[in-house]
Amino acid sequence: MGSVSPPKGRLAGKNCIVTGAAGGIGLETSILFAREGANVLMADISGPALEKAANKLKELIPEHQNIDTIICDVSKESDVQAMVAHTDAWGGLDVIFNNAGIMHADDADAVDTPEKIWDLTHNINVKGVWYGCKAAVQSFRKHGKKKASVINTASVVALVGSATPQLAYTASKGAVLAMTRELAIVHAREGYRFNSLCPAPLNTPLLQDWLGDDKAKRYRREVHLPGGRFGEAIEQAYGVLFLASDEASFVNGTDFAIDGGMTKAYVTAE
Ligand code: NAD
Repeated sequence: MGSVSPPKGRLAGKNCIVTGAAGGIGLETSILFAREGANVLMADISGPALEKAANKLKELIPEHQNIDTIICDVSKESDVQAMVAHTDAWGGLDVIFNNAGIMHADDADAVDTPEKIWDLTHNINVKGVWYGCKAAVQSFRKHGKKKASVINTASVVALVGSATPQLAYTASKGAVLAMTRELAIVHAREGYRFNSLCPAPLNTPLLQDWLGDDKAKRYRREVHLPGGRFGEAIEQAYGVLFLASDEASFVNGTDFAIDGGMTKAYVTAE
């Protein structure tokens, strides 16, 4: 009788959650996590999009470990608690990527941003990340984990201001950055690492649907990217994989910018 060989890879045997898993960064990260031997719980608010994303992942990785899906609105604490509890049957959570986020079309400047857009944005982008961190810490403790990794998606707008305002979004991502830094210090002695991911503008539906065919709006952003192009979701996913893995065991509290050098630019490249 052949014995089942243990999973191989940089996340072999780790139980991971990805929120916003049906979207650009979330799906690419879920694929990489699974390729590297993780059990992956893909969570998203959109059931049909989640199903499509999970099917894509299973097609690419036919010999997979546990790849499960769960519908979860990260702005509802009960949903987030249920999502994390799903990994109890796998032996408890090791990694959570709190990545779900929105950038609303009606988000504007201090004068024109409607309060309901401010609240919606903060409920998802900030409270959603807090709930994810809270449930993760509770789970790590319950399962006696001696090391664990939390990655929270912020943005370059948490590091630099934007002259094309989306004030609620920018403020929400600043909160993610600050919250993650503090959690990194508070939980360091327990072995739980917390890092923020700060992506530059990307080729994902979140931004591209909003830019549409508007060439001027597009150029207004592209000109600030030293390489002259938007980033790809997979380029973020490789960074998340590193932060999730034990290779990053001494990486804690970092604002991990994957931005093609955008936040280091003074004048634009020619
Ligand atoms: P995306 O729109 O492709 O994916 C976001 C996913 O989150 C979608 O599948 C959506 O259904 C899901 N989602 C939305 N609200 C949710 C909720 N309440 N609960 C659970 N899931 C929810 O976007 P993306 O580009 O992959 O963005 C992922 C993260 O990266 C977001 O936090 C975003 O703010 C951040 N980010 C994106 C860019 C960019 O240019 N795309 C730049 C910087 C930061």
